[in-house]
Amino acid sequence: MIHVDVMDGHFVPNLTFGIPVVEALARRTDLPLDVHLMVERPERLLDRYLAAGAARVAVHWEAVVHLDRVLAQIREARASAGVAVNPATPVELLTDVLGRLDFVLLMSVNPGFAGQRFIPNALEKARRLGALAASRGVALEIAIDGGVGRGNIRQAVAAGAGTVIAGSAVFATPDPAATLRELRALAESEIV
Ligand code: ZN
Repeated sequence: MIHVDVMDGHFVPNLTFGIPVVEALARRTDLPLDVHLMVERPERLLDRYLAAGAARVAVHWEAVVHLDRVLAQIREARASAGVAVNPATPVELLTDVLGRLDFVLLMSVNPGFAGQRFIPNALEKARRLGALAASRGVALEIAIDGGVGRGNIRQAVAAGAGTVIAGSAVFATPDPAATLRELRALAESEIV
């Protein structure tokens, strides 16, 4: 799928793009769009992102007041509902919304800029989150986002990530398609 990093210049200092770009992408690809909203109060524009063609939407735990309601709203639109958590946010804070979640996006950098170094704490958080979901009988997809590349993608999968998001590790190489194939092969080599 295509991971789409929306930044608003408030929740994170950087600014990327918004609804028109998501709409344009949806017109040009059949791949699911995985929209990561790094924005303050994402509920204000959530319906428009969903209508624009997002197959999956992750809102930030740190940016939403009424998380339970927002997750229900995403699922009502027949999209997959996710929560993204910053490196300093404990996964245990998600305990009471596990049943409303399709996936959790663990940030392995502080959100807002491309090309940052991976924060290894995300691996430990993935293991804790996997154990927490299993103890509640919840099937949950864990995604790791930020600073992932050929040097650590296998560790991310081994820690329980079913989805690994790579940006700079792919696009900063001369042949992004070949790099993506290589990363996929490395990730799949970890799956037993
Ligand atoms: Zn992202």
